[in-house]
Amino acid sequence: MLKAYFLAAPKVLKQLVFGVDTIIGLWVYMVLGIAFWMPPSLICLALAIFFAYLPDLDLIPFFLLKKRLRLVSHWAVGHYPLWVTAISTLAVYLVASRVVPGSVLFLCTLCVTCIVSHFFHDSVQPHGIAWLGPWPSTRFVFRGGRLVAADPEKWRERLAFLSQGATMRNSLEETLMRLESGQVSLVRIKWWIVPVLVISIYWICRFAIG
Ligand SMILES: [Zn+2]
Repeated sequence: MLKAYFLAAPKVLKQLVFGVDTIIGLWVYMVLGIAFWMPPSLICLALAIFFAYLPDLDLIPFFLLKKRLRLVSHWAVGHYPLWVTAISTLAVYLVASRVVPGSVLFLCTLCVTCIVSHFFHDSVQPHGIAWLGPWPSTRFVFRGGRLVAADPEKWRERLAFLSQGATMRNSLEETLMRLESGQVSLVRIKWWIVPVLVISIYWICRFAIG
């Protein structure tokens, strides 16, 4: 088992560095950091990336409850944009207004933008997500620049696919199954390099200005 975790480490690391959600966090931090003229902050950058991954934290209750409740998808636990965005932003507001009152607006905007971007990215898949869920459970797919109702059959197909051997898979196997496979493409690297470069230049300029 330890060997399996060791072998999985590079895949997880690759996801954390070059994953789409990391890229979302970088772009949102770059745009909002400059727009709000924020001082360089590794903590804010890390928060942006954390917010971009936050909806997928429903993997934790999924792993804990999947056998008991016979769940096959973590999206059945908490991929509900309306509620996740509202509750997360309220939590950020309550904490930030006590800890860093001068950055409340920036941090709340960062939180909303990263989380909503994550859900838009998830909505690209043919089965879409239940933006207003859990009730109503209508799923929406992001197509042609707008959200349109998804074909319910696509979600049934997805659940049928995930159901195959679901009870046999442990948490590590479930994680690996969800990680993107194959090499990180050159296109992906470009989307990663641009915000990293811009953020670096912005930080250097801000340090130089003092
Ligand atoms: Zn997601």
